[in-house]
Amino acid sequence: MEMKKMAEFRVGRGHDGPARVGEYIMNDVAFETPILISPEISRANPLHYMTLGRDPTRQRPMISTIPFTMKLDELVKAEPNDSDSILLPSMISFSSLSADAGTLLLRHQIEFINSVKDTIDPSRLIIRVPENIDFEVFESYLHDFHSMGIRAAAFTFDGLLGSVDTESIHLRSALPASWLSTALGKITPSMVPFLFYTGFDIIDCGYSIEAAVTGTRLWRNDSERIEQGAFHRFCSCIHCVSFSDDSNSKLIETLQNHNLDVYNEILSESIHAMKNGRLRWLVESMTHVSPNHASLLRQVDKQSYSFLEEFTPTTGTDVVPLIGPESYNSPVVRRYREYLEARYTPPSGKRIVLLLPCSAKKPYSDSKSHRRFLETIESALGRTVGSVAQVILTSPLGVVPRELERIFPAANYDIPVTGDWDAEETELGAEALIHYLDKIDSESTVVAHVSGGYLGIVKSAESKVSQSIIYTTPETSATSWESRQALHETLVDLKNVLQLKDTPPRQLEEIVRATADFQFGSGAGDMLVPENAKLGGKPYRQIVCRIEKEQVCSFIASSGSISLTLNGAKLLAPLNRYWVRLDAPQVKGGSIFAVGIKKADSEIRPGDEVIILNNEEQVIAVGKSEMSGREMCELPRGRAVSIRHKMEG
Ligand SMILES: [Zn+2]
Repeated sequence: MEMKKMAEFRVGRGHDGPARVGEYIMNDVAFETPILISPEISRANPLHYMTLGRDPTRQRPMISTIPFTMKLDELVKAEPNDSDSILLPSMISFSSLSADAGTLLLRHQIEFINSVKDTIDPSRLIIRVPENIDFEVFESYLHDFHSMGIRAAAFTFDGLLGSVDTESIHLRSALPASWLSTALGKITPSMVPFLFYTGFDIIDCGYSIEAAVTGTRLWRNDSERIEQGAFHRFCSCIHCVSFSDDSNSKLIETLQNHNLDVYNEILSESIHAMKNGRLRWLVESMTHVSPNHASLLRQVDKQSYSFLEEFTPTTGTDVVPLIGPESYNSPVVRRYREYLEARYTPPSGKRIVLLLPCSAKKPYSDSKSHRRFLETIESALGRTVGSVAQVILTSPLGVVPRELERIFPAANYDIPVTGDWDAEETELGAEALIHYLDKIDSESTVVAHVSGGYLGIVKSAESKVSQSIIYTTPETSATSWESRQALHETLVDLKNVLQLKDTPPRQLEEIVRATADFQFGSGAGDMLVPENAKLGGKPYRQIVCRIEKEQVCSFIASSGSISLTLNGAKLLAPLNRYWVRLDAPQVKGGSIFAVGIKKADSEIRPGDEVIILNNEEQVIAVGKSEMSGREMCELPRGRAVSIRHKMEG
């Protein structure tokens, strides 16, 4: 008997939000994803969909669509190419009637799959997700589809960037990580980065044809009607340049080719941005195309935050541009604020909290203004300098304690530093400051050495904090000579009034403890850096932590993160976090692949330091995660962890 033809989706390496690269393999032909799809076959557009049975001459597999009314025997008869994938039928107008109709459509597909599964392998079928189905109902059906062998779904977009599109993205977030996801419908070029970012692997560019037929030339974030004798935008593309004939059919062909190039260009730009960790930035920059683009991102950030965050790396060395309000709740920013609130514990022994403005240069202590602040603080306090906690106010992260200034994204973000903050930024900053001061002894004194927008933050937090606040720079800029003089005098006064005792700085310890808490959860700092720990090194390069001469971890300044040794991992194991359970006694080789993983902590994000356990709960290795914990459990293949240290033997 002939082997049934299969389709397979393989997720590749790398992450930037839910966006991923991969391969969709139909029979033996592999298509690299993300990929555009359209019914256009006259040019080298890589992937096509078509109503079944129209073109029996073609060589390459494509995605066939079938009419709603098609029966099994008709399908089997009509199927011209047994390596095609088949998009299950849907009636869009029907599905938008009510949620019940959506459920009926899913049931119809289940019946259909059951009736064809002996003839067509379910891996080749792509389910159609009705656009208004309840999220929980859809999730429960997904379970059935998955156990039937379905691994692909298609979602509908109507081009209005409203509730249908938001809902489709939300429903897409329910898919298992191993599924292929397709976006169909009216999708303009400006939506391509957004759909790729939200995890779509195949994106419909059929609108390029529809637009061409109606005489519309598409641009990256605009469109233009082409009319005879009218003035048109200059285009240097090969199709427009060579077009001179004004016969109608040539015009449509020219526009079609031009339009398709625009889609291809923006998709290629999106893939490049993903590989450089700048896809979110590209998506944010496209929110300026129209108010609808902006509100769609805002809606999705709100509704699908956990989905976006789950696949967003926790490390990076590149600059993260945070430019407008779209950035305030981007996953890296919101996660920073949430981790700080939930995981951070301020160092003990602090009597003064000094609030400072941020600087354009990162980390802050490398900036001219912060070097001057540090000199002022040291000259005023001398040997009591260890009793001051320094906290930097910044937007949109909120607050950055000095000991965390090198972590991601605090060391990487880039904002316009004008000091003019809008109401939302001020509120986010004030909220972060309130949470921070909530963890500080209420007898401590807060010194606010800030002006302008920073001052606005402190003022709006003031009524909700228990400490008393002294302001040093009500009139001038915090960096001026006069205000640094004022800071100096204030600190000298406080030193005398509070009768500060000699408190040597414990910078190395504070950095490693705070970073460990931030990275592994609260409590980790005390476990890795107990009182008898010995620390050595430089904050701007590397800090090594030893307990009884055994190295447990090191802080790497360039990434602002902690790497564990096996001993360090053993110390942290009781926290029961960031673990990956391997289905083997030992780690072989330099990587762990998803296929060998039994279970993994769902809190793991790409880039996290993780602890590898075997079946007997022994720590057998440490490494850096390449995917999220959920992917480690759900993907059948792919590199999950790059090993740093492992047990030998
Ligand atoms: Zn052109």
